[in-house]
Amino acid sequence: MAPTQARPPAGLCDSCRHQRLVPNTRGSVFSLCERSRTDPSFRRYPPLPVRECPGFEPVEASRERRS
Ligand code: SF4
Repeated sequence: MAPTQARPPAGLCDSCRHQRLVPNTRGSVFSLCERSRTDPSFRRYPPLPVRECPGFEPVEASRERRS
């Protein structure tokens, strides 16, 4: 069987550099916010989909900084 991502759209998080996708043993995938590690104002698993977020940074921006 082909693997599928069993998760709802995460909104802004899906294009944010702070998102980390965490699979569980049942095949579900959760959207974790890495900003929650250093800033308690961010929830580890925010309610989805996220429509607005003051911590959002696009993935493309982090790629540009690394090159
Ligand atoms: S910073 Fe905001 S947009 Fe980015 S992963 Fe965390 S909750 Fe989602």
